[in-house]
Amino acid sequence: MSPFRKNIIEVENLSKYFGNLKAVDNISFKVEKGSVFAFLGPNGAGKSTTIKMLTTLTKPSSGRINIDGVNCLENKSEIRKRFGIVFQDQSLDDELTAYENLNFHAAIYNVPKKLREQRIKFALNLVELSQRKNDFVKTFSGGMKRRLEIARGLIHHPLILFLDEPTLGLDPQTRNKIWEHIEELNQKENMTIFFTTHYMPEAEQMADKIAIIDYGKIIAQGTLAQLKKNTKSTSLEDSFLNLTGRSLREENATSIDRMRMRRRVFRR
Ligand code: ADP
Repeated sequence: MSPFRKNIIEVENLSKYFGNLKAVDNISFKVEKGSVFAFLGPNGAGKSTTIKMLTTLTKPSSGRINIDGVNCLENKSEIRKRFGIVFQDQSLDDELTAYENLNFHAAIYNVPKKLREQRIKFALNLVELSQRKNDFVKTFSGGMKRRLEIARGLIHHPLILFLDEPTLGLDPQTRNKIWEHIEELNQKENMTIFFTTHYMPEAEQMADKIAIIDYGKIIAQGTLAQLKKNTKSTSLEDSFLNLTGRSLREENATSIDRMRMRRRVFRR
């Protein structure tokens, strides 16, 4: 990692209230360009609300969000070009083919017509769906749909990919496959990755920095080593437990080991 990297996301004193509920309560953090940032927390902690504010889908009650030097609240359309989103809820059109879904997205994002074919080809290739491009999405498995959503998130060449539980509910093999694609984008395209997950090993193995949110407040942030040191823990799962008093979902040991092996090959 280079000693100096520009911050591509800067969040200051961000809050979101729903009536009396402080869903996000005065949080501040920075994400370096080209890094992988994990945003963790128990259910209802405020992760999705934060992502929705970062991606201009929800208006903050107060605070400042700066993405790639641009104020998010003042320049929504400018900001939207800079990121792709993969949400938990599937939002592909089942009645269209994989190709048609991507082409539609490219049109919405004003990707020039002459570039569309090339971008769609690249994205389908990356997620290994080229052979299925003319098949209807309704015939795809859950893992294939998630991969197609990742492909769709890339069509407009974003600087940042936001992933809200990208692997939720998928089997360990499919999760690994999805992470391979995400890692490739991070390594080869220098794309910044901001993700949430319930699978601690994903954060442990993939993230350069981790922030933990609970009851709307960020209660810890830093590298894995810093979090473990500060909480006197031997794993992220332990750190999380020490910080929040709760543990996240159990993980499949074989998938952890495989991820660990791959990480060693890929990283630095
Ligand atoms: P997480 O993604 O960490 O599970 P959320 O950001 O979805 O948490 O939710 C944080 C809190 O805000 C929860 O208590 C949730 O019920 C509440 N919340 C989220 N969206 C809304 C909404 N549109 N209206 C009212 N309350 C909401």
